[in-house]
Amino acid sequence: MKIKSAEFVMSNSEVAKCPKNNLPEYAFIGRSNVGKSSLINMLMQRKSLAKTSGRPGKTQLINHFLINGNWFLVDLPGYGYARVSKKAKKTFQKFITNYFEKREQLVLAFVLIDCRHEPQPIDLEFMQYLDEQQIPFHIAFTKADKLKPNALQRNIEAYEQKLLETWEEMPLYFVTSSSHDTGRDEMLAYINTINEQ
Ligand code: GDP
Repeated sequence: MKIKSAEFVMSNSEVAKCPKNNLPEYAFIGRSNVGKSSLINMLMQRKSLAKTSGRPGKTQLINHFLINGNWFLVDLPGYGYARVSKKAKKTFQKFITNYFEKREQLVLAFVLIDCRHEPQPIDLEFMQYLDEQQIPFHIAFTKADKLKPNALQRNIEAYEQKLLETWEEMPLYFVTSSSHDTGRDEMLAYINTINEQ
């Protein structure tokens, strides 16, 4: 898919205020610092469409970008647990779960995982949550340039093993590097195929 236009449309914290039209949308989510803004900018070939972070505690917003006038890329903030204090029960932030549970235009989510790290409980729990909600998701491994090919392969296999403890199949995944444009063609071609179905 050629990116002819990529425009910021709106930021808000409530799913009810997200764009009203019925364009298909694809959500990008992961832990803070996973490389989400860099990946979005790389996919769109824009320097600063999504704001790269380095600012912990930056406002938590749902950001809609209109791509080629016919689909939305949604940049969600880094997820974390919202602790319900007395019961010490861990849940994801409410506006994130609201988004996933209420946004009918959502086609699928890309869960971003830093390829350098071992499977982290919060990422696994988030994927489990998406699965329970029957929300399709794929994995985008980020920062692939930071590992040698063998180490990258080993880490992905370790991830696969971990996920296979829960699922029968490894979710579809993409290997990306924002500094080398790795995975760009594959991710955009995939989105294009789904949009054309
Ligand atoms: P976000 O918080 O998930 O939006 O993460 P950012 O996109 O702001 O990236 C966090 C840090 O990782 C920044 O210092 C980026 O320069 C760096 N980074 C992101 N993607 C890559 C990548 O593909 N390769 C390398 N080497 N560094 C990356």
